[in-house]
Amino acid sequence: MNLNLLGTGGVTPIPKPCCNCELCVKAREKGISEYQTGPSMFVYDDNILFDTPEEVRLQLNRERIEKVENIILTHWHPDHTQGIRVVEQINFNHIKEKAEPNPINLYIAEKQLEMFKKFGCGNMLSYYESKGVIKIIYLNHKQAIEFENVTVTPYFIPKTEGYYFLVEDNKSGKKIVYAPCEYQDLIVYDELKGIDVFIAHCLYFENKKIGSGVNYSDTEDSFEKMLKDSEKMNAKKVVITHIEEAFQLTIEQLNMEAKKYYKDYNIEFAKDGHIIKL
Ligand SMILES: [Zn+2]
Ligand SMILES: [Zn+2]
Repeated sequence: MNLNLLGTGGVTPIPKPCCNCELCVKAREKGISEYQTGPSMFVYDDNILFDTPEEVRLQLNRERIEKVENIILTHWHPDHTQGIRVVEQINFNHIKEKAEPNPINLYIAEKQLEMFKKFGCGNMLSYYESKGVIKIIYLNHKQAIEFENVTVTPYFIPKTEGYYFLVEDNKSGKKIVYAPCEYQDLIVYDELKGIDVFIAHCLYFENKKIGSGVNYSDTEDSFEKMLKDSEKMNAKKVVITHIEEAFQLTIEQLNMEAKKYYKDYNIEFAKDGHIIKL
């Protein structure tokens, strides 16, 4: 299984527009290698794109991705969906003025689609489906989606109504769990125990020696609680994504802090374009 964390930024990418904090100024100076764009992941084995943040078009170009056949929207929030027009850019032929022959399979939970239509730009999905650009398929809790090379199983998070995902290699049996957002009171089911990599949302730190002291405890678990989940999963490695500008730390600094304070865990904070090969 080959994965690419196309974007590892959070709600506020780095650099944040119009921000003159040290982190953003340095990122701008160093250029694109220091940018952390909106959260998304690509699974090469079956051309599966998880989420479409604003920068997804640039991410796909930057990583030379040649084909997107499936898109899984983890939930409707703007930081994960505002680049949805990428389906038109990929799959509508503006010379022939019609969609390419095969629609992109677009997976989303029914309730999430309702909220996407109510609060976001979800009606665009109906438009693109009517044009044959995409085909909407509902995803459901614990209902496995079997692709040729990998199987993806969504898991509902009752507290936030979001989802997290098990991605399993059909041949090797290697497993990753992807929990990029909406992380609060995850239930760790038995089949999620004994995984190779846990790719998790960068949550706020209970350890106030790290970062700027922001506390999101009303809407999400802490980093430390997430590490306990990784223990329950027996995860061999924890890779961190959805990293906020508000923490005011570079990836190098975060990796140093992890070595200092969480040395019992095999943790890596990821940059955009982080590759995982299993
Ligand atoms: Zn800033
Ligand atoms: Zn998010």
